[in-house]
Amino acid sequence: MRCRITSQLKLLSAHLRPLGTRSHRYNTVTGCHGIHTATPTSEAPGEVPYSTPLARYLTEAIEATGPITLAAYMRQCLVSDLGGYYTAERQFGAGDQFGRKGDFITSPEISQVFGELIGIWVVSEWMKQRRPGQKVQIVELGPGRGTLMSDLWRTVLCFKPMADLVEAVYLVEASPSLREAQKVLLCGPKIKMRQIENGFACQSKTSPKTDIIWYEDFSFIPRGKDRTSYIIAHEFFDALPIHAFTNTDNGWREILVNATSKKGHFVTKDGVSKLEARSNIPEFSLTLAGAPTPHSILLPSLSQRYKDLEKLKNATIEISPESLGLVEKISQKIGEAGAGAGLILDYGTSDTVPANSLRGILRHEICSPFSRPGEVDVSADVDFTALAEQAVKSSKKVEVHGPVKQGAFLRMLGIKERTEFLIRELKEKLSSWDDDGMEDKEKALRSGHDRLVGEHSGGMGAIYKALAVVPVRKGKRPVGFGGKVTGDKDYCK
Ligand code: SAH
Repeated sequence: MRCRITSQLKLLSAHLRPLGTRSHRYNTVTGCHGIHTATPTSEAPGEVPYSTPLARYLTEAIEATGPITLAAYMRQCLVSDLGGYYTAERQFGAGDQFGRKGDFITSPEISQVFGELIGIWVVSEWMKQRRPGQKVQIVELGPGRGTLMSDLWRTVLCFKPMADLVEAVYLVEASPSLREAQKVLLCGPKIKMRQIENGFACQSKTSPKTDIIWYEDFSFIPRGKDRTSYIIAHEFFDALPIHAFTNTDNGWREILVNATSKKGHFVTKDGVSKLEARSNIPEFSLTLAGAPTPHSILLPSLSQRYKDLEKLKNATIEISPESLGLVEKISQKIGEAGAGAGLILDYGTSDTVPANSLRGILRHEICSPFSRPGEVDVSADVDFTALAEQAVKSSKKVEVHGPVKQGAFLRMLGIKERTEFLIRELKEKLSSWDDDGMEDKEKALRSGHDRLVGEHSGGMGAIYKALAVVPVRKGKRPVGFGGKVTGDKDYCK
């Protein structure tokens, strides 16, 4: 599970320098456009090594031009060409970020039922909207290993009238190695991707007439009134960069990322190697901008929710303009066609503005987001209310449902029934009920069900939430948000 909320607050405040401890020049180059200055070089003899090449690069950029925004830091850590968490070269087969051997485990990796139910949600929405003859786009943002799409696509293919209309399956992915993993799963190991304008394409192995198409950006997906898009984002928005602000006596001030002083930190008395010592000490820390930044002037004025917090001294807020921009595009795409749906599943807040939520995860443990940049996964809580507000603001033709807890959402979609069905099917297939493999499979399905819906403290069923963006249709709720599944529920036998 990616999400761990314990001790994040402590972690983050431990890295927050008091006001005015260093020069607080705002780095406009790196803050607004990513970092394009320094080039990493190897260590000079006798110099203390950096934990990662990206750590050196970021330090040099900050030392040259001043602290950078959290958004710039986060973006570099995740998708930098110099070895971001998702964009670093990983040898295929050498293991990735997911699963027990990786850094975290996500819902589709826990049980096949998760992706199947999302498939049922998509089919049910398509049936409710009745758009015979219109082209269908199936879209996923940040598909990881491709597991969710593989389970979803298999489910959609069981509904021929809809599957026949699918123009293509679109995957928005920044990571070349994950793109390859998705290709192997969805298209097969032997077939090669072909380059197309702005992306890559490959024939689906389960439906040769349908292409799987990869883009790095959502904007490349073809638009049009005659296209009905079903857009899924599972654990994607938490990877989009955030800006953070604190309410001071002088108004909102942006929280920036500074390089930690190198001197003295990494000399150890007990013989621990310098590299090891350095790698355990965060190389970056937070600092407050001494003067307003473009973001601190603009972003906190975007919503009444932030303005309300101006009365609260030292209040801290996080805002992700990239998330707002993306949900705007999703909303406009659905509004323009007057059809389709967006489904966002993630962890985050439903009634408060996220604060101090940036976290690092390495091998299933929470760690400082300011250590080992590029090797540690960094993510932040999703502000569901901000996404909902922005979606409705961006198109008069859409409405938003949720957020609802993942547990409730999956239960309404029939997770229990589907899990029991698969267990019954397994038992029928295997001749001997005592078969060890069978018991393991049954256990995995049952424990997967429990993990996905568990609403105890810290349970995925409670922490994760679902939000739907659908065309305005006055009162007809989507399934999982109070509505019923339309059509044949006895799917995919
Ligand atoms: N949805 C998957 C994986 C979630 S991890 C699952 O639930 O298992 C986040 C995914 O988003 C990864 O595939 C990562 O490579 C991709 N990603 C992260 N930042 C991105 C960006 N800025 N643009 C495109 N893809 C991105």
